[in-house]
Amino acid sequence: MNPRLTAPPKVAISITEACPLSCKHCYGDCGREARPAELSIGEWREAIARLAADGVISLHIEGGEPLLKPGFLDLLAEASRSMFTMVRTHGTLIDAAMARALRDAGVGRVLVDVMGATGPTHEWFTGAPGSFDASVAAVRHLVACGVATDMLLILTRQNAPEVQDLLDLAAGLGAERVGVLRLYPLGRAKRIWQEIALPLADQMRTLGALRVPAGLTLMQSWHPNDHNCCWQSAAVIANGEIVGCPYLREYVSHGNLRSTTLLEAWRTAPLWQVLRAGAVERSCPDCSAAEGSHGGCRATAYAWHGRWTAPDPFDVTLNDGVDLSVLPDRLLPA
Ligand code: SF4
Ligand code: SF4
Repeated sequence: MNPRLTAPPKVAISITEACPLSCKHCYGDCGREARPAELSIGEWREAIARLAADGVISLHIEGGEPLLKPGFLDLLAEASRSMFTMVRTHGTLIDAAMARALRDAGVGRVLVDVMGATGPTHEWFTGAPGSFDASVAAVRHLVACGVATDMLLILTRQNAPEVQDLLDLAAGLGAERVGVLRLYPLGRAKRIWQEIALPLADQMRTLGALRVPAGLTLMQSWHPNDHNCCWQSAAVIANGEIVGCPYLREYVSHGNLRSTTLLEAWRTAPLWQVLRAGAVERSCPDCSAAEGSHGGCRATAYAWHGRWTAPDPFDVTLNDGVDLSVLPDRLLPA
C-alpha cells in the first residue's frame, strides 16, 4: 500500500444510471429511468461533503447522464466549493444556457463523449439520430463560455478510421484535450465485443498514426502512458457500491456507502489494499514502480486472466499473444 496517502485523492462517482441515449456498448447498461436502488441526491450530497472533509481533492462525476439527476447543479456547486470537479457527459443536454449553468456552478472541466467523428458512426453506437450534432454543439457552447472541455472517444473497430478526424474536429472546436480510451469488457459492450473490439496491433497502429494538432493534448489509456492507477483511485457506482474504479464495477465491491464511508472502505477493505500495493507478476522494463504504478490496468489484467497480479494484455510488452478482439469465455454474457 502507498504509505503516503491517507485518503484517495481522486474519486469517481456514477451519480445515476439514467440516460436518454441507448448506446450499444454502454458499460453501465443504462436505461431511460433511474434504477430504484440508486442513491438519492440527498445521499450523494451527504457522501460528497464527507469526501471533502476526508481530504478528497478531485471529484469526477459521470453517469448514465449526470445532468439527468434531479438537483445535480446544486450538488455540483456545493462540491466545486471544496474539490476540483469534472463532469463526464454525452453532451446532448448542454445548450448555451446549460453550459453557463455548469460554469456558474464552478465545474473544473467537462468531458464530452463521442463515439466517432461523424454522425453515422457516433449514432450507430448511441441509437439516437441527431446526437452527434448535439454533442458537438455542447463542446462549442462550453468552450464559448470558458469551460475547460475535453472530448473522449472509446476506440473501436468502427471509429478507428475517424480518430484523426476527431482530433482535428476537437482542435477546431477549441477543446483542450482528446482522450482516446481503451474499450473495456463491461455492460453492453460484452454483448457486441467481437463486432466492435480491435486486436491490440490495430489499436497500436491507430494510435501510432495520429498527428496531434497544435494546441490540443492527446490523452490515451494504453500502458505505459497510462499507469496502474489503482493506488490513487476510488469510485462509487449509482447504487452506492464502492468499487475502487469504474472499470472494476463488475468484479469488486468494497462495501456500500449506505453502510460505510468511502474512507473506511479505503482503509479496511482487504482487496483494495492488495490492488493499491501494486503487486504484479511482471511489468515492462520502462515501467515505473513508483507508488505501485507499474504493470498496467488491473481491470483488464483481471478480465482476461482472472488474477489481480496478472499482466495487462493492453500493454504490448505484456500481451503474451492475447487476442483482445475475443472475450474470455467466462466474460461472455449468458
Ligand atoms: S451516453 Fe453513456 S451512459 Fe448513456 S447510454 Fe451511452 S454509454 Fe451509456
Ligand atoms: S482498474 Fe485500471 S483504470 Fe482503474 S484504477 Fe486500477 S489501473 Fe486505474
